Amino acid sequence: MIPSVLPTYNRASLSFVRGEGSWMIEADGRRFLDLGAGIAVNSLGHAHPALVKALTDQAQALWHTSNLYQIPQQQALADRLVDHTFADTVFFTNSGTEACELAVKMARKYFYDKGQPDRSDIITFSGSFHGRSAAGIAAAGSEKMTKGFGPLLPGFVHLEFGDHDALTAAITETTCAIMVEPVQGEGGIRPLPDACLKGLRDLCDEHGILMILDEVQCGVGRTGKLFAHEWAGVAPDIMMVAKGIGGGFPLGAVLATEDAASGMTAGTHGSTYGGNPLGCAVGCAVMDIIADPAFLAEVNRKSGLMRQKLEGLIAAHPDVFESVRGAGLMLGLKCKVPNTDIVTAGYAHEVITVPAADNVIRLLPPLTITDEEIAQAIARLDDAAASLSAP
Ligand code: PLP
Repeated sequence: MIPSVLPTYNRASLSFVRGEGSWMIEADGRRFLDLGAGIAVNSLGHAHPALVKALTDQAQALWHTSNLYQIPQQQALADRLVDHTFADTVFFTNSGTEACELAVKMARKYFYDKGQPDRSDIITFSGSFHGRSAAGIAAAGSEKMTKGFGPLLPGFVHLEFGDHDALTAAITETTCAIMVEPVQGEGGIRPLPDACLKGLRDLCDEHGILMILDEVQCGVGRTGKLFAHEWAGVAPDIMMVAKGIGGGFPLGAVLATEDAASGMTAGTHGSTYGGNPLGCAVGCAVMDIIADPAFLAEVNRKSGLMRQKLEGLIAAHPDVFESVRGAGLMLGLKCKVPNTDIVTAGYAHEVITVPAADNVIRLLPPLTITDEEIAQAIARLDDAAASLSAP
């Protein structure tokens, strides 16, 4: 008999009732150190006082009105995002997938309005993940996600990640945009080198096409800059954001330049819930903390500490781990044993990690993780690895 919850997930037999900072707690009091943060969502950990206050204050005042009216919290969050980024304008969604939908529509409408309606193809890359909607799976294009769900939304051209020559050759007069994650998350914490991101920007400029960055997983302080593309010193035309911006409240956004967004006039897009007062009140509280350069400096310092300790862990378990990669607190451990074995062994030692493609485990702790918790995380991963390599 089908379970009452549609069984599209292989769930671990863990169930949490409470969260405190970097910890998730089961009903029997068992405490797990959370290096997954709900897959890069709980950017400020669990039950951060500023976020609890923002949400409960707003919950007592007003939950929902609709985008038919002015929403001051939405305006305030849009202003913060515009102030801190390349963007001139923002549309709010409830998820990363919905941000992908709008990014695709916006890029196509841009060229339609310029009298080039055939310029509608978007180039994407192997290993990418842009969500599970019809556009999201067509964009990523992997068989794992698309099989059985055809006919797929046309207009996506899939290339090998990192193959600059293939990319140059693939740009034609029907290309409207390139969509890429600066650091692939689901794909196995695969950073696009800064030089490649710069090269992509140059190609887009040369051919007059739009650069869409998917920073749903790598954005909002995760890599130690507010947004990951800042490391390369380039700016996109359109950017998808979600996960960390809501700190656990469902919130996403599309940020764009005035030019890229020029086709999105009244009536061309909408959302009942996107940008609702609850989500935006929380988003403002998140931005007020994470956009502070001192906070981002701490993310970078803790990243250095964690990487150094992870190198030690790899050296201690060369039969289990191969290498560490990533940026900031978006780190991946390439494994020599099946990554899911390590994730499961971690559960037994009360540490949460998240598997990704390319036999990687992801370490995406709350950005507020302390030095002491980092030391504990390594000790628990050490125990988990020892349990796997034991004779
Ligand atoms: N884009 C990227 C890079 C993601 O990592 C994800 C989710 O993991 C998405 C898009 C989809 O976001 P959501 O699950 O919020 O719809």
